Amino acid sequence: MKIKGVDAKEILDSRKEKTILVSIKTNVGDFSASSPSGKSTGRHEKKSYKKDLENDVQTIKKFSDYFSEEVLEKFEDLRRVEDIIEGHVGANTMFAFESAILKAIAKEKSKEVWEIVNINNNKFPRLVGNCIGGGKHSSLPKKPDFQEFLLIPKVNSVKKSFEIIKKAKEKIEYFLKKKDEKFQGGKTDENAWATALNEKEILDILKEVKLPLGLDIAASSFYKRKRYNYENPRLKRSEEEHFTYLVNLIKNFDVFYIEDPFGEEDFESFAKLLKKFPYKLIVGDDLITTNLKRFEKAIKMKSVNAIIVKPNQIGSLIEVKNVCGLAKKNNISLVFSHRSGETEENILADLAFGFEADFFKCGIEGDVREGKIKRLVEIEKSFASLTY
Ligand code: PEP
Ligand code: MG
Repeated sequence: MKIKGVDAKEILDSRKEKTILVSIKTNVGDFSASSPSGKSTGRHEKKSYKKDLENDVQTIKKFSDYFSEEVLEKFEDLRRVEDIIEGHVGANTMFAFESAILKAIAKEKSKEVWEIVNINNNKFPRLVGNCIGGGKHSSLPKKPDFQEFLLIPKVNSVKKSFEIIKKAKEKIEYFLKKKDEKFQGGKTDENAWATALNEKEILDILKEVKLPLGLDIAASSFYKRKRYNYENPRLKRSEEEHFTYLVNLIKNFDVFYIEDPFGEEDFESFAKLLKKFPYKLIVGDDLITTNLKRFEKAIKMKSVNAIIVKPNQIGSLIEVKNVCGLAKKNNISLVFSHRSGETEENILADLAFGFEADFFKCGIEGDVREGKIKRLVEIEKSFASLTY
């Protein structure tokens, strides 16, 4: 596939905030891809843009001539692209650019994007659906301190799993109407229900849907000066008190998936929790930020047995591949994840499948979330052994 020109522009994400769309002209057609944006971002994420979005748009335009006549034929060729643009643009821009290139390579080879990543996979990830949210993703004055309450059905079909979480979310609306007098169907950034209830009240409701449960505590968002500052109800917990509180919640509500339970530098507490619950999933998002060095540290310290992979946290898809390889080698579950500010871009599904993700965390409702799950269902359907 030969690039003939490169362009970029600003578009709006699901939060109506600006993000980048990169387009390439090639000998096999025009392709574009956009990047999502986070709100509860980890401190160690790569910067989304080198200086700012406008500047990255101009930089990509300037590189157009440079990339003209560049021939790219396989996933590993992205390394050459990275060697050229590394240091000139931020992670969002690099991710969008590389995604557009993968689409063009796939087209030339009459393949799906996931086949360019890895042709050998036939295992589908479990869906992780955010049904109720709080923290930085909710704009309510009173809200849960934890960011996401997750449903994780265990069935061996993405399509079936999607139906299950959609139905469960409807059922949960009924319970919220009964228990939260102010609830009027409001939603968070990720289109989960927004409520004034706290984590215990929510977990009580979630027992009713009888599905494996997860929490994204996003603990860095309420950790300050060695305290976890709960607001609902207002209560400062010491690090030890927070640890004990989580242990009790996990036991009492049989929580199976626990993401970012502690501050993003606290590798030790993650390890302590994993030691206590070796059969639960202790998941690092802000802790690791899809960063190979931080992942190596987490492995060495036995801090996690699952890692969130958000390609735009790091920008480089070569680095994403390295992270996924290291996870497989160490028997650590891969959770490919959307961001709270999303776009119509669905390449996440191809990447998740290609990299053999164990879980796919992508919300439940709304075009930008459902589109990605539908793409995964489409891939699932393409496997002849599965009948619908
Ligand atoms: C998350 O923390 O898992 C998340 C999706 O949030 P954001 O995209 O806001 O970082
Ligand atoms: Mg998270």
